[in-house]
Amino acid sequence: MGDGLSYTRPVHGASTPLVVGFDLDMTLIDPRRGVRSALRALAQETGAAIDVELVVSTLGPPLETALSPWFDGDALDRACWRYRDLHGAILLEQTDPMPGAVEAVRAVSKLGGTVIVVTAKYEPHARTSLVAVGIEADVVVGWKYGPAKGEVLRDHAAQVYVGDHPADVIAAQVGGSLSVAVATGEATPSALRAAGADVVLSSLLAFPAWLENWRASGST
Ligand SMILES: [Mg+2]
Repeated sequence: MGDGLSYTRPVHGASTPLVVGFDLDMTLIDPRRGVRSALRALAQETGAAIDVELVVSTLGPPLETALSPWFDGDALDRACWRYRDLHGAILLEQTDPMPGAVEAVRAVSKLGGTVIVVTAKYEPHARTSLVAVGIEADVVVGWKYGPAKGEVLRDHAAQVYVGDHPADVIAAQVGGSLSVAVATGEATPSALRAAGADVVLSSLLAFPAWLENWRASGST
């Protein structure tokens, strides 16, 4: 910086290129209809007693983790790929936008910002899910969770990472990004605050106004 000040967060302001990262599931998109359908089909095919509602209510971790209570080793690998086949076939019809998601991404673009989506989801399905809800991201990176998301955020110099899960807060911290948490997933506002979120919004409906204020403030 050359001015002797130490910054704990990236410098931002109207003159700094804006880069905002978003998580996907339960942040930008609501995948639950499709997840439910695919899990039910997988349970039927395999005979495994998958607790569909448990998986649907704890979205965020990688699929391998989510299915690990019912499958192991090679069977887990096979189940994950079969699930992806089943889910992929219905993604376009059974993916919904989260409230305010389209507007939140548009708010970044309107400021000339770059939107990057960083998600644990299988990357081709992440891209299809975004098409399904009409969101265009500049960069989409899949297969990343927790600290690994943070490395992507750092590589892209993301000033902000928006997510619904405590692991997204960790991702932002690793990436040197401001952690903006939305309480639209399983985590409550207090859980997200306890995880260290810098900002907690009730949903993305509040994001455009927050972004405008934050940009106008010019510094942390
Ligand atoms: Mg999420």
